Amino acid sequence: MIAENLLSLKKNILAKVTLVAVSKFHPESSISEAYQTGHRAFGENRVQELVSKYESLPKDIEWHLLGTLQRNKAKYIVPFIHLIHSVDSESLLAEINKEAQKIGRKINVLLQIYIAKEESKHGLSEEEALDILNKKKQFPFIQFSGLMGMATNTENQAVVRNEFKGLSIFFNKIKNAYFQDDSGFKILSMGMSGDYELAIEEGSTMVRIGSAIFGNRN
Ligand SMILES: *Cc1c(COP(=O)(O)O)cnc(C)c1O
Repeated sequence: MIAENLLSLKKNILAKVTLVAVSKFHPESSISEAYQTGHRAFGENRVQELVSKYESLPKDIEWHLLGTLQRNKAKYIVPFIHLIHSVDSESLLAEINKEAQKIGRKINVLLQIYIAKEESKHGLSEEEALDILNKKKQFPFIQFSGLMGMATNTENQAVVRNEFKGLSIFFNKIKNAYFQDDSGFKILSMGMSGDYELAIEEGSTMVRIGSAIFGNRN
């Protein structure tokens, strides 16, 4: 099932959109099944689960952290992480930069922007993001790779589309204002199992899909 789900998803999303298979709460055997199809990008929410899966699975997997990162845990993932989607404060960014400097590895990060009308979702306001970008020279071991956002969990497609559209506009605005000379800023991570089609229509370049591949989580 996992392999079939993956292959049909890949047929459905445009070739230029990257699919991150969100394997949180699913066993390593499920990841291996997806890996067998040639898939390499996997996303996890929690540092402990991510590190433990990293240690036991093949080393050519590209690991993505999607969930909230506590500052004191940055050091555990900095040595191997492919992309951190969930940077939501300047202090976290400073910590990642510090740990990255220690080992001489530049870390790819997305700034998570708050776009939903829900208390439970994290992220920076546009102003806070701009504030960080104005200081980006202070973080030489950070590669600003783009933005991430999560839409409101609602049946109302117009609401979801609007939130994605707003993030897409903001992404293009800061790309032009801050990254004219940096082609590394190119990822707009938006879209999950329930809303990835809308997200792609609104300019997503990376979708994070869990349940549509691995089934429901417990
Ligand atoms: C769990 C999670 C996903 C995947 O959600 P599905 O609805 O299972 O596709 C995507 N992004 C983030 C940030 C998540 O926490």
